[in-house]
Amino acid sequence: MQAIEINDLIFRWKRGQATVLSLDSVRIARGEQVFISGPSGSGKSTLLSLLAGVTTPEQGSLQILGKRLERLGSVERDHFRADHIGYIFQMFNLIPYLSMVDNVTLPCRFSRQRRDKAVGRSGTPEREAIRLLEHLDMAHDDLLGRPVTTLSVGQQQRVAAARALMGSPEIVIADEPTSSLDSNRREAFVQLLFNECSESGSTLVFVSHDESLEPLFDRRIPLTEVNRAGRPESTAE
Ligand code: ADP
Ligand code: MG
Repeated sequence: MQAIEINDLIFRWKRGQATVLSLDSVRIARGEQVFISGPSGSGKSTLLSLLAGVTTPEQGSLQILGKRLERLGSVERDHFRADHIGYIFQMFNLIPYLSMVDNVTLPCRFSRQRRDKAVGRSGTPEREAIRLLEHLDMAHDDLLGRPVTTLSVGQQQRVAAARALMGSPEIVIADEPTSSLDSNRREAFVQLLFNECSESGSTLVFVSHDESLEPLFDRRIPLTEVNRAGRPESTAE
């Protein structure tokens, strides 16, 4: 079974507006680590919001882990996302009034399945959070007690990664997670994601406009090449 299978998908944000994505066929296998590249405005975040079931296509099919996401209602899609998808946002979206550990265990509040996996692995969600934070070099006593708002950007990003990895979701989605890191720290961050994803067998879909990271991945999907939207008619086949 594929992790992700898209066929003849068409998406626009509003009727009457331009088509943002028109994808013939995109397949991502289970366990693959894929780099989706494309310039700003090319529809990378839009594609990720479709994969996560935040939005639905106007036409075509979108199968995630064998489930036809476009056939589900929004409540079912919310459950599906909570159970199966870890999402690292570009702006991290940490909850300012929660501790670092409570930020990381958050997915367990929304998904029984992820809670059970965390408990199976470490005994409690809190211990699993500490284990993940240790791997990301964030489990120091002086850091754990600090409000997340006082962490550096690079530290916040690692907390966001630990949260996405919590409860070993089958798919981890990262939207430009390295854009605010120094270039010498980007590769180390990507390696940490790789290690955690391969340990739990998660598929990684990583979006960036930073082409220097591309050689680290199993495969690259250049969005402007696979997306028919926005191409002049004459060059479309
Ligand atoms: P990228 O992530 O590659 O920079 P986006 O997917 O954010 O590109 O944007 C693709 C296009 O969709 C842009 O024209 C953008 O203005 C538009 N867009 C993105 N998000 C929204 C939204 N929530 N509502 C309406 N239009 C949007
Ligand atoms: Mg984007």
